[in-house]
Amino acid sequence: KTATIVGCPFSGGQPRPGVDKGPIHLVEAGLIDQIAELGWKVNFDGHHQFEEVDAKVDPPIGILKNPRLVSRVTEAVAQAVSSHARKGELPVTLGGDHSLAMGTISGTLSVYPETCVVWVDAHADINTAESTGSGNIHGMPVSFLLGIGSKVPEFSWVKPLLKAERLVYIGLRDVDAGEKRILRENNIKAFSMHEVDKYGIGKVVEMALDHVNPNRDLPIHLSFDVDALDPSVAPSTGTPVRGGLTFREGHYICEAIYETGLLVALDLMEVNPSLADPASVQQTLAVGCSLVRSALGETLL
Ligand code: MN
Ligand code: MN
Ligand code: MN
Repeated sequence: KTATIVGCPFSGGQPRPGVDKGPIHLVEAGLIDQIAELGWKVNFDGHHQFEEVDAKVDPPIGILKNPRLVSRVTEAVAQAVSSHARKGELPVTLGGDHSLAMGTISGTLSVYPETCVVWVDAHADINTAESTGSGNIHGMPVSFLLGIGSKVPEFSWVKPLLKAERLVYIGLRDVDAGEKRILRENNIKAFSMHEVDKYGIGKVVEMALDHVNPNRDLPIHLSFDVDALDPSVAPSTGTPVRGGLTFREGHYICEAIYETGLLVALDLMEVNPSLADPASVQQTLAVGCSLVRSALGETLL
């Protein structure tokens, strides 16, 4: 078994500098050796150098910011992820902002068309060109993957390969009004923090997998935004929201998905080492590494 680390130093899907430094710091924190310790052969592909798109030649489309840059980078990420997945490797993509998931999930679906997506996040990231209030594309990748909302020609490479019934969310607590409507109209299953409180994380993960993967036979892509965790657990991120997953709840999700034996791709996104004090940054990097280890089979006993 081989895991390939795809480092994506990219911040163009949102306005706060520093999230592009996430992958470098996660690797410097020892992630590669830690995964190797678990018995994986680790292939390090990155940190990817993405072609620059000058801001002067990348004016907003509607209110979408850096659209050409985000499109080109995510298309390159899709290529990287699909080429590794096609060789039977497990791509572990380190962000970078969550717009990158447009690339990672496109790449996974091109190799495993039946893949279901477990999206762990405080946010739904499902705004369309019409519904976005911020114009930050990290709040939009899911709508592009589903093919909902008006088409943005710049993103025509993104094929709408994800079906709404193959997507499930865990951890939501900051969902825009327009996004709530989109979730409802498309019948998308979501377990917010309310459901985590009500049922407990064990039951929530079971219900989430029952929805997207009832026979436990489909490949799983886990896209984990570190802001799903409570800010007291993972402070160094660009859009923290209080009332999030505990340290154990976050790890439990990763452990339970590893146990299915169906994980084919993993994203760890939105780690921003330039936000918060040094101790908080160290804490966030350590948590990021341990989430990845849990998803790759680390057990407590
Ligand atoms: Mn590569
Ligand atoms: Mn988020
Ligand atoms: Mn996100």
